[in-house]
Amino acid sequence: MTGLEFPAPEQCRLFVGGEWRDADGGARFEVHDPADGSVLTEVADGSVADAVEALDAAVAAQSDWARTPPRERGEILRRAFELITARADDFARVMSLEMGKTVAEARGEVAYGAEFFRWYAEEAVRIHGRWMQNPAGGSRLLTLKRPVGPCLFITPWNFPLAMGTRKIGPAVAAGCTMVVKPAHETPLTMLALAALLTEAGLPPGVLNVVPTTHAAAVSEALMADDRLRKVSFTGSTAVGKVLVKQAADQLQRVSMELGGNAPFLVFEDADVDAAVDGAMVAKMRNMGEACTAANRFLVHRAVAEEFAEQLAARMGALRVGRGQDDGVDVGPLITDKAVRTVERLVGAAVEDGARVVVGGTAPEGAGHFYEPTVLLDVPAGSDINAEEIFGPVAPITVFDTEDEAVARANDTEYGLASYVFTRDLARTIRLAEALQFGMVGVNSGLISNAAAPFGGVKASGFGREGGFEGIEEYLDTTYVALPGG
Ligand code: NAD
Repeated sequence: MTGLEFPAPEQCRLFVGGEWRDADGGARFEVHDPADGSVLTEVADGSVADAVEALDAAVAAQSDWARTPPRERGEILRRAFELITARADDFARVMSLEMGKTVAEARGEVAYGAEFFRWYAEEAVRIHGRWMQNPAGGSRLLTLKRPVGPCLFITPWNFPLAMGTRKIGPAVAAGCTMVVKPAHETPLTMLALAALLTEAGLPPGVLNVVPTTHAAAVSEALMADDRLRKVSFTGSTAVGKVLVKQAADQLQRVSMELGGNAPFLVFEDADVDAAVDGAMVAKMRNMGEACTAANRFLVHRAVAEEFAEQLAARMGALRVGRGQDDGVDVGPLITDKAVRTVERLVGAAVEDGARVVVGGTAPEGAGHFYEPTVLLDVPAGSDINAEEIFGPVAPITVFDTEDEAVARANDTEYGLASYVFTRDLARTIRLAEALQFGMVGVNSGLISNAAAPFGGVKASGFGREGGFEGIEEYLDTTYVALPGG
């Protein structure tokens, strides 16, 4: 153990009804440092019974919370934004320890994650309906917005703070209560966040946190309960499909932020230097472990060699190591299994005829590391173009025409992020309309923004997080038919 002080040891437990408590039977599980596999600490391992008690607390708090003035809900979020910002170093360090990303990257996530609280602090006071006259005359039509009710949030390990705040922020603003189940790989950040929200004034029962290694059993039990009204999930498409089916029984509302297979298109008229800068961000943010990560580089033949050479030089210069060490650019992947997946995909691509320009191996020794890698001449049909790599590998495929590029980009079951690099405005407009993705980044490798609606289509899910749209996921509309005056 490393003697973690943040979150405090008494907070490495369940948070239910405003109290820190042990799990049923005192069960605990270990949280590991992916840089060397060592145990960071242990956390209470919530059972199904614990989760149901958390839902009891959320249900009990719901009606008072819905009646709490919007300004008060917003002020809590605003205070939480200030507190996270003041404690950015603590959050960055714990996130780096449990997830592996560098401290500098983790600071970036702290700023991004906190921003959802600031944005929804401002949106809490802008929830409104409308008043209109019946088109036929006479009666009036009134709409009002109400919180959907108690929610279940299931979050992944790759962005332990931001994937939580972009659900919690709009839910708090809308007047919903919630049970949060963080990924068992990275529960510490969420526990620290629960403590911080309490300090910011969030009443007991509004937010409950149940770390657990029994994810399936816990979510199944909660979703079988008709008091739960909404499920928001961020994670893999496979698990998302299971949850959508489970939600059908009680017809819970669902938001699904699932996997991606982002194409990164570089046209012959692109600024190649800018495209390489964008590629480094879109590929290497979070060591490639992002649902928005550029997964397939589609590059016009005229600039492919130049782009690949420059990208390989930048990728090859990155220093791989422990996320907390100075000078490190690329931390470990989350698990050994993640490294094996990357190895399998790179191996298959090379067998299919791809050339390794830089990298291509997992270093020996402790920790789940993989070298930043660039592959050129990857055949379109190679597995690496169909699956999420979730690692620091950039496979490049060459194209000749815009139509070919668009067809290849859309040739995936996924539809989350996409990126295009071109200096031609007419082409930009054509692409924005032709690409079947929830998000299109133009001449930029970074699209995440708390003020923007983040989300996908097709197997990447549905629902939007962030922006004006994000709060709608937590509101129901009531229509009131009024007689004419
Ligand atoms: P995962 O689906 O294995 O796990 C995500 C969460 O679901 C974790 O909390 C896990 O404990 C829980 N879970 C696992 N099995 C479950 C089950 N049967 N029932 C209920 N909960 C279950 O995904 P992961 O490996 O943690 O995360 C990586 C995936 O998440 C990638 O596919 C990535 O693209 C996706 N992701 C998507 C977004 C987005 O916004 N679209 C953001 C980040 C990550």
